[in-house]
Amino acid sequence: MRLSNGDVLLAWPLALHVLTAGYFYSDGSRHEAIDLRTNQDGSIIKPVYAAEDGTVQETQTWDGHTKTGMQSYGTMIRIRHADYAGVTLQTRYAHLSRICVQKGQTIQEGQLIGYTGDTGNVSGAHLHFEVILGGTRRNPLVWLDGDFTTANTGVYTYQPGEYAVQRPAQAAAQGSPAERLQTITIGPVTQGDADAILAVCKARKLDTLGLYHSAWAE
Ligand SMILES: [Zn+2]
Repeated sequence: MRLSNGDVLLAWPLALHVLTAGYFYSDGSRHEAIDLRTNQDGSIIKPVYAAEDGTVQETQTWDGHTKTGMQSYGTMIRIRHADYAGVTLQTRYAHLSRICVQKGQTIQEGQLIGYTGDTGNVSGAHLHFEVILGGTRRNPLVWLDGDFTTANTGVYTYQPGEYAVQRPAQAAAQGSPAERLQTITIGPVTQGDADAILAVCKARKLDTLGLYHSAWAE
């Protein structure tokens, strides 16, 4: 979703947020994605959810044996989201067992798009998740909130200066100015005081803004 300042906060594509590999592998080589644990409760098959509203740009079904080139992704979905700062923003979900969407389909953040698996070039089941900005694969953790754990201390997270997206307080993120105001309840009061309070509210046009409510008959 887009925050009020225009920044992007992507939703986690899995219910479980355990990183088994970060943007760099533990040997320092480039991964340019994150891997998320899918093996839990005796199953590797977990629902995968769209990280943001968008359109399905590409789906690929693994041929069952090739582990090089694009087929290394296995069964895969790529979604295009609204541009960020005028640049194309996409997410990719790889090594799936099943796809639930079609190319060209409009989808919403959090929508079920497929199920995890172990297709393509994998040594074990996991979800490979990429964030692609203007054709370049960025560190997905910079586009997600900080609600995750790592499988071990060797898993790369952020480079200096990188950090999770701050999830805004609900009140700051949405709602009209009236909904963000504090509610002040006064009473019981005499009819005279109630009239005086109403007069103050009317003088500030709080009544026409719908900000004055009285339990008394006016
Ligand atoms: Zn990966």
